[in-house]
Amino acid sequence: MSHKILLLPGDGIGPDIVAEAHKVLNALADSHGFAFDAETALIGGAATDAHGDPLPESTTRLAKDADAILFGAIGGPKWEQIERDLRPERGLLRIRSELELFANLRPALLFPELADASSLKPELVAGLDILILRELTGGIYFGSPREKLADRAYNTMPYSVAEVERIARRGFELARVRGKRLCSVDKANVLEVSELWRETVTALAGDYPDVELSHMYVDNAAMQLVRAPKQFDVLVTGNLFGDILSDIAAMLTGSIGMLPSASLNAQGRGLYEPVHGSAPDIAGKGIANPLATILSAAMMLRYSLGEGALADVVEQAVRQVLADGLRTADIAGGGQAVSTTEMGDAVANKVRAAAN
Ligand code: NAD
Repeated sequence: MSHKILLLPGDGIGPDIVAEAHKVLNALADSHGFAFDAETALIGGAATDAHGDPLPESTTRLAKDADAILFGAIGGPKWEQIERDLRPERGLLRIRSELELFANLRPALLFPELADASSLKPELVAGLDILILRELTGGIYFGSPREKLADRAYNTMPYSVAEVERIARRGFELARVRGKRLCSVDKANVLEVSELWRETVTALAGDYPDVELSHMYVDNAAMQLVRAPKQFDVLVTGNLFGDILSDIAAMLTGSIGMLPSASLNAQGRGLYEPVHGSAPDIAGKGIANPLATILSAAMMLRYSLGEGALADVVEQAVRQVLADGLRTADIAGGGQAVSTTEMGDAVANKVRAAAN
């Protein structure tokens, strides 16, 4: 069976880094029999320029038809002053909601070679491998009523039992195939919505006797993430808390060019993207780090395409090029300075070599 993959390069460094991930998928096809068809479509500022819409109907159609989507990045100074609905980020928000991508997976994994890049002491982060699971389509970012008046403003933070159950089940399932520990993060000492969240997660625990469930208040979780991050395996939380905690966790690894992410729907289809943006300051210079996008492609293989063994091959190839000392400009720690395409070539070569 051939997997249908939609490539959405976007703006800025997006086309450069997606091209390198595509190169690695091609290497898997040549050497490991990975069968896929890739189509490319416009999103973000590039789509606004070409079609007057950051998410054209033609792109949505291809996205709904694909088994998985590999996304680069969107945005840039060129589109910052235009009407809100035409701005690049509207394209990303809309595709997330069109595809009902409610589960956002943000791993924070520190490669041993890069332990010096973290703002924390190397011994606190060496070997770090945690996963933050953020609910992405509910909570305070979408709740109503919401209003801004002259002298006050308010938002609403709703969660239904069904919404909590579907993200919590994802959390238990992910913990089950990792370290078997799930920490649910809320603010149940203050918020009613968190009380319901905690009761709902607790009620599911019986279905996953092999997973150890714990609960933590969000303020403590933020503190623990910088005090002793390795205590965690999987954290599951709502949209607002997850937004903040996942950025803290990302920074523990010190290198924005290394971090992949996935956003999945109930059927396991998903959109995979690096955590970083379109980096307009280095676009077109050939120095962007493609590894976050290549690692996003590995997540795509594992979580949407059922090709976990091939995901391992790609991740191992990334580990090897780092161990060989290859470094794009954003990664600290000496080594051999390489360009975007040289890094992609090196990973693709390791992938090919793994077949021999
Ligand atoms: P950014 O992540 O694009 O860049 C922050 C810094 O990190 C820059 O100095 C950049 O050069 C560097 N950087 C980022 N990715 C890198 C990589 N792969 N290799 C080497 N260095 C890298 O964030 P920003 O500057 O705040 O935003 C720039 C644009 O990106 C804005 O238009 C913003 O709206 C957009 N953005 C898009 C997304 C997305 O597409 N999901 C996410 C965040 C920001």
